[in-house]
Amino acid sequence: MSDLSRPAIRLKPKANVRAIRHGSPWVFDNELVLDRRTKALAPGSIVRLEDAERIALGTVAVNPGSRITARMLDRNPEAVIDAAWCAARLRKALSLRQRVYDAPFYRLVHAESDGLPGVVIDRFGDTAVLQPNAAWAEAHLDALTEALCEVTGVSCVLKNAGGRGRALEGLDDQDAVLRGTAPDAPLPVEMNGAVYMADLTGGQKTGLFYDQRENHAFVARLAQGARVLDVFSHVGGFGLAALAGGASRVTCLDSSAPALALAAEGAARMGASDRFETTEANAFDGMTTMGAAQALYDLVICDPPAFAPSKPALDKGLRAYERVARLAAPLVAEDGYLVLCSCSHAADPVSFTGACLRGIGRAGRRAQLIHTGAAGPDHPLLPQLAESGYLKALVFRL
Ligand code: SAH
Repeated sequence: MSDLSRPAIRLKPKANVRAIRHGSPWVFDNELVLDRRTKALAPGSIVRLEDAERIALGTVAVNPGSRITARMLDRNPEAVIDAAWCAARLRKALSLRQRVYDAPFYRLVHAESDGLPGVVIDRFGDTAVLQPNAAWAEAHLDALTEALCEVTGVSCVLKNAGGRGRALEGLDDQDAVLRGTAPDAPLPVEMNGAVYMADLTGGQKTGLFYDQRENHAFVARLAQGARVLDVFSHVGGFGLAALAGGASRVTCLDSSAPALALAAEGAARMGASDRFETTEANAFDGMTTMGAAQALYDLVICDPPAFAPSKPALDKGLRAYERVARLAAPLVAEDGYLVLCSCSHAADPVSFTGACLRGIGRAGRRAQLIHTGAAGPDHPLLPQLAESGYLKALVFRL
């Protein structure tokens, strides 16, 4: 079914048409002719994108209220965006994950990188958590949910409206159960020999960070017999992997009591409670106190929240990363390992590495960089969209 009667929006002559032709998925407000008709389009409308000469470039979703005014959905300017279209995208996404993982626990859709702009879907076996972070996804939620159930066979779909991007798209923060019944207890998830408890409906930041899976595995390789400190641990991402890797003792530090309770439950399910403890503290205060007490660990991991969530916050963010490194380095025994992570896309690998080295240097330590990690393959990178590659994990030997 083609739809040539659909509205069209047009690029200004100065827009970077080549980038769009080569796969750049976003068109910003200043690149478009924003006439009255375009401004009146409902957020999430599906329209045809044309270049300044009116040559069609593809099917886009528009949100006149957002700086990212158009998101490329399909190179075919007549594509019909319905459940069948969503299902085709989901099948492509699923086949990658099925190749790489032997159990259905992964990020199934990583937004633009999987051809579903603004849509994030994490899968926990029979339950999927869907984040519609763009207006078109909210407007097509029924089609997306139907396709998700059909393609994956999940029986429960939860909507998580906590995504940072939703406010920029003019969307609310109301979570919902879209299909089935929400699990009434945290779900155990096995990765790298560890058991993580994922609370999919709890109040604060929920679920699991699947993106660090490969880096957890690398840390597990360093953990045999080691005293381990996992700072900003959440439900124990690195710490429980280190337990599975044979750590002699693991301390998880986080400011969130619910996250630490889940970490402790994971350790208990692994039968490793006797090698595990938690400390509820602000990481900066906690590390300062440990430093004053001359505490020493063979392996310290710091995986803070995004300190530089945007370009304007970059300088402040880099100073925070430097401070983390400066406070953590003294806690690492000679020939021990320090893992420093950043999930801020604004902090590029070179600036982040620089901040870490300044912190380590100010602590009077010298470092070898032995490994650089990124997000796992269920978080594919769209080369045309720098924002899709955000995670950095630097493994230093001090
Ligand atoms: N390392 C985890 C993910 C960490 S997410 C993994 O591999 O799965 C970041 C964590 O930092 C969250 O759990 C949050 O509660 C915690 N956090 C944020 N600010 C903090 C602070 N100032 N002090 C301690 N923990 C903090």
